[in-house]
Amino acid sequence: MIEQAKSFLQEYYGFTSFRPGQEEAIQHVLQNRNTLAVMPTGGGKSLCYQIPGLTLEGTAIIISPLISLMKDQVDALSSYGIAATYINSSLSFEEQRDRIHDMKRGRYQFVYVAPERFDSSSFLSTIKQIKLSLIAFDEAHCISQWGHDFRPSYRSIVQTLYQIPNLPVIMGLTATATQEVIRDIKKLIQVTDESVVNTGFARENLSFRMIKGRDKRDFILEYLEQRPNESGIIYTATRKDADHLQNFLSKKGFSAGKYHAGMTENQRKQVQSDFVQDEITTIIATNAFGMGIDKSNVRYVIHYSMPMNIESYYQEAGRAGRDGEPGDCVLLFSGQDIHLQRFLIDQSMMGEEKKKDEYQKLQSMINYCHTHMCLQQYILDYFADPTHTEPCGKCSNCLYEGEEKDMTKEAQMV
Ligand code: ADP
Ligand code: MG
Repeated sequence: MIEQAKSFLQEYYGFTSFRPGQEEAIQHVLQNRNTLAVMPTGGGKSLCYQIPGLTLEGTAIIISPLISLMKDQVDALSSYGIAATYINSSLSFEEQRDRIHDMKRGRYQFVYVAPERFDSSSFLSTIKQIKLSLIAFDEAHCISQWGHDFRPSYRSIVQTLYQIPNLPVIMGLTATATQEVIRDIKKLIQVTDESVVNTGFARENLSFRMIKGRDKRDFILEYLEQRPNESGIIYTATRKDADHLQNFLSKKGFSAGKYHAGMTENQRKQVQSDFVQDEITTIIATNAFGMGIDKSNVRYVIHYSMPMNIESYYQEAGRAGRDGEPGDCVLLFSGQDIHLQRFLIDQSMMGEEKKKDEYQKLQSMINYCHTHMCLQQYILDYFADPTHTEPCGKCSNCLYEGEEKDMTKEAQMV
């Protein structure tokens, strides 16, 4: 069957060879073994469930956390001539009903749904009646309460799943998982050690930079002036910061849009599509922006202040360079960032145990801002990446930029 999988790679996608981990993951699934694929962003995780979905008989159910993500995937599959659809709350009731009806008749090879869909009885009874090829959890870290993006509905599906009589092979796919999260996912979707495919998280094309003790706005002005036509994202910790910075940059004549949860859905859609179509080059956003955006030519991601943990940082910074071309990831650190993040954890509705966990993660983030080791190595060590040992040679610590600044500052204090 792997031969057939290879010919699908050529036939449908026009690719000549598999990327690291893809063939192995596909092979496990085709041997009917529940599989967890841990691969970096842009590593090609979609193919790992799509090719088995094409090879095996029946309908593949893909569980995906974001509605915008589903449409892109379905459009891509449709453009290859593959019968795919999504069923979610963005559709009218009639449309949902029609699609479920078509699904019952086995019309689709791929059906994308949000986790909440499993609460719907018509959907559940349908998937119990049809032949399923596989069930895939995209962004599988959402399943774990130790993941930074935990979705209770993701976890409750697991209980529902095991009541399905015709349960097919199950897959999990993620780019951001600590060892703890990996353990959790394995337990929940019953993956053995042999069926974990972990290619590591390293993104060789990204360069990390830590900037301290500079005026953040000045830095950004200078930075953008040097990159007039490049696409990039600037992440702020608060909506207010996003508003102010966008205002500031627009006044200076830069083509900058903003994106945060305080805007209307239409406004957000507009900005997003302007950005994806290169109508605007820079987007200033809170962490509400990004998960569903598949823009491959993002050249830089600047963090205007330190995020809450390494998982979020790496996921957001990782939106740079998805096309494999160089991506620049800059973090602008100031001591006040720490107070803000502590405050946000304090004020959150999390339980005590979860808060403790978040404080620990925050501490690792703070340590990242102060470390003298290779920044890429620090991140990969954090995720206990077994595949990576060499310093990257191009982050600000490898190039000693950060250290020099620190020393002058310390020297001044002395
Ligand atoms: P991920 O979900 O891991 O972030 P995607 O599945 O979205 O990554 O794939 C990222 C990009 O890589 C897509 O544009 C995809 O077409 C491309 N890609 C995937 N597999 C291959 C391959 N074997 N050869 C060439 N390009 C590939
Ligand atoms: Mg993906």
